[in-house]
Amino acid sequence: MERIDEDRVGGPGEPPSLRRGSAEHVDLLSILPEEAAARLRAHFAGRGQPSYRAGQVLSWLHERDAMDFSELTDLPAAERAALAEAFLLPAPTRAREERSNDGTVKHLWRLADGELVESVLIPAADGRMTLCISSQAGCAMACVFCATGWSGYRRQLTAGEIVSQYRGSRRALREAGRGEISNVVFMGMGEPLMNRGAVMAALTLLNGAYGLGARRVTVSTVGIVPGILELAARPEQFRLAISLHAPNSELRRKIVPVEKKYPLPELLGALREFEAAGGRRITFEYVMIQGVNDALPLAHELAGVVGEFQSHVNLIPYNPIPGNDWRPSSPMRLREFAAILEEHRVPVTVRTPRGRDIAAACGQLAADHALRPPKPFLELKMPERSRAPAS
Ligand code: SAH
Repeated sequence: MERIDEDRVGGPGEPPSLRRGSAEHVDLLSILPEEAAARLRAHFAGRGQPSYRAGQVLSWLHERDAMDFSELTDLPAAERAALAEAFLLPAPTRAREERSNDGTVKHLWRLADGELVESVLIPAADGRMTLCISSQAGCAMACVFCATGWSGYRRQLTAGEIVSQYRGSRRALREAGRGEISNVVFMGMGEPLMNRGAVMAALTLLNGAYGLGARRVTVSTVGIVPGILELAARPEQFRLAISLHAPNSELRRKIVPVEKKYPLPELLGALREFEAAGGRRITFEYVMIQGVNDALPLAHELAGVVGEFQSHVNLIPYNPIPGNDWRPSSPMRLREFAAILEEHRVPVTVRTPRGRDIAAACGQLAADHALRPPKPFLELKMPERSRAPAS
């Protein structure tokens, strides 16, 4: 594995909030494409500049991933300076790049206020290049098996900070001559549907401005019902993945605490609406943890739950996180579990762990933050006896 520290390729200069911070400055990376176009046209009109200048700026932003107005070299210097006076272009800096033995690349991004998030580039043998991005700094969902949950919640990302992971990664790939990103998955740090405003805008931007087909973008959620319904109502065909991890409420609430807020029957109701709205295939993710949720009767039960949908089950061998001695299910158990789903005619794949050596695999992203077991984990690990009140 290789490690490059404090590389500046992702964005020269200091964070924008230090450079020039004012409430009037609009963040050009977070607003929707039409609004950006309108504001830029008004800006240039006010300066007596031709209206095609707006198009020039947008192409630098959305096609060439400019990180600073100083890069817009086909604009007069005075116009570059005026843009920097009027707008913000808060590109995160690429603080670290780590490369796994399997070709996976993890980036650590430093945001304008110093907050850190990670994204992961995952090349596949068939030529696809998937980018896994974060939607929040940390996460409040406290799933007991996930390092991001163990690292706690810090703040929401803006739409610009979400798409910047795409911009920065695309730029890094192009500079290295390593091809283009074919797919984006919201499977990094955070719960995307707990940051709906920014995530919905980021989806519009990725699809409408940065040119990624909606079917190539997957939102993965722990099961936030209002967010699923909002996605269902969108006209684009964004893909949905559900982190299910258990086929019944009783087991699920022990490992995915949000089950208490959005219980399985309600979640399934939302998925019916999602399916009815567009006939899109739903992916169910199921992390396989030895002795926790991998008993074979659960596979039959799972088939019963997902069988009504046009679905696909992704079995994810548990990726170990520091402080938790759980183990992934054995390869044999993974095969048996998958075989039962197949018997029930449920399409299933076993996800190959990628980037484990650089802590870039599913559930391992923590952006250098300390890990502390979340309360639901401690409750789960505490034996029944010691939990019962003394009588
Ligand atoms: N919050 C969103 C997206 C982030 S997690 C969600 O829950 O879907 C992306 C996937 O990795 C989820 O399915 C998550 O449950 C899974 N995951 C989390 N921790 C893991 C671990 N330690 N090993 C394997 N998969 C894990």
